[in-house]
Amino acid sequence: MNEDIIQLAENLAEDHKYAGGGGDPHIGFGDYEVDLVEDDFYNAFEGLLRYKDGEFQVFINTGHNHSRTKGRCRFTAAHEFGHYCIKSHRDSIRSGKGTHFSKSGFQSKEPMEREADIFAAHFLVPTKALQKRHKSPNWGAMEILDVHAHFETSVTCAALRCQASLPGNSTLILWGKTEVRWQRMDRDWWFDLPARSIRNSSLLANGSATEKVLNGYPIPDEGYVRTGTTRSHWFPRIAPWSTKNDILIEEAIPLGDYGVLTILRPDCR
Ligand SMILES: [Zn+2]
Repeated sequence: MNEDIIQLAENLAEDHKYAGGGGDPHIGFGDYEVDLVEDDFYNAFEGLLRYKDGEFQVFINTGHNHSRTKGRCRFTAAHEFGHYCIKSHRDSIRSGKGTHFSKSGFQSKEPMEREADIFAAHFLVPTKALQKRHKSPNWGAMEILDVHAHFETSVTCAALRCQASLPGNSTLILWGKTEVRWQRMDRDWWFDLPARSIRNSSLLANGSATEKVLNGYPIPDEGYVRTGTTRSHWFPRIAPWSTKNDILIEEAIPLGDYGVLTILRPDCR
């Protein structure tokens, strides 16, 4: 099912492509003659797809909050484009209540929201275009921020796309103010060593990249903080003396009101 959505999104990215090599939701909605309104809707919603008087209309919240970056708004527009293009979603919005309020950005557990997020990620950052731009297995925060800028998408989306389509192991951890919101470990690493990372910021090593960013340390111009760490610091089931306690590169990117993103990667340089 997810594979079908990924295929659909990457095909449609070709049909509604812009200069950067990814799909453009504004071009897409324009091609289908669907009205798209961007405005400050305060914190009422991120995006909304409505079926009214025989027509679909899209509303994207672009205002109110400086953490709602251009890339994030574009991600929301691609999420709505997903609802419009995935037939079961479109049918359900047309025949159901008529208005769908989106909680886009990989934070909802609703199947429809998850599917629209997967669609958006692959529509904005198609696999081929991503692999053409970055080939090194040593990707990290710098490449994630490049994908965020180049494909004009949210940082979280860029990170998930790098994890899914670039080589090498990685763990991504999204923090709220003090607690982990979610953790994504790529499949190989998960099976290599099934272990959940720490969940509370009080357990972070003093001076680690994530601890610094969560506690308001000044962010360098590159937009992230980087330190070395060990696996046992992050995965309590690993004993400090274990042979599996290898050194990891820890990078943390601030996302404003949307939290902090931690990237853990093996140190293979
Ligand atoms: Zn939605």
